[in-house]
Amino acid sequence: MTDIALPESLAQARERLSNALKKAERPLDSATLLAVSKTKPASMIRQAWQHGQREFGENYLQEALEKQAELADLDDIVWHFIGPLQSNKTRAVAESFAWVHSVDRLKIAKRLSEQRPEHLPPLNICLQVNISHEASKSGVMPDEVMALAKEVAALPRLCLRGLMAIPAPANSLAEQRAPLAALRQLLETLQAALPDAPLDTLSMGMSDDLEAAVLEDATLVRLGTAIFGARTTQHATQ
Ligand SMILES: *Cc1c(COP(=O)(O)O)cnc(C)c1O
Repeated sequence: MTDIALPESLAQARERLSNALKKAERPLDSATLLAVSKTKPASMIRQAWQHGQREFGENYLQEALEKQAELADLDDIVWHFIGPLQSNKTRAVAESFAWVHSVDRLKIAKRLSEQRPEHLPPLNICLQVNISHEASKSGVMPDEVMALAKEVAALPRLCLRGLMAIPAPANSLAEQRAPLAALRQLLETLQAALPDAPLDTLSMGMSDDLEAAVLEDATLVRLGTAIFGARTTQHATQ
């Protein structure tokens, strides 16, 4: 991994996203950069914020809560929870995040809705889809997305915004695009079936497949390594 300073890597990530959008003939404001800051210190998040970054993604609840406390003065920061979510963590997530990308079962969604504090707007939700049909991966299977989406859309304190996926690694642009295209088509099916839900979000594209994701209409691309550098710290499981 190259050892460049954060402002520069952030600027490069923005340029990479802009170039991908231009190549896809999409408006430059039609996709947002989500900076995935897991395992990285609060000081790096603050630095990225000072350079205009507002949306941050975290995977591990305890680590995220500690950083949020350190960064409490940054009142326009937008926190996205993107990691696996167990029932016993839903309350803190409902209280401390604006978005959750990793909802893949109704039980978790119901808890998030019940536990979302009244003084906060509804929690934005993406359903995580196991788009590559990997046996070991989290995410709802594609043929079960419609049923789950209908139930989640009906929960009062949630706002169903779209779909998220982490496709299996692929070697060519064409191979990368196939599962991302499938996720886009799934979202289109949901949009037709749930015309009242604000289904405007495709959370897909990471450091290795950003260009493919933008070609398939990603609206929220999740970059970690490309912005913050390689992750060396091993995270304790929680
Ligand atoms: C870690 C992570 C990312 C960022 O991955 P990079 O390859 O570092 O860009 C994106 N999405 C999710 C869900 C992640 O866990």
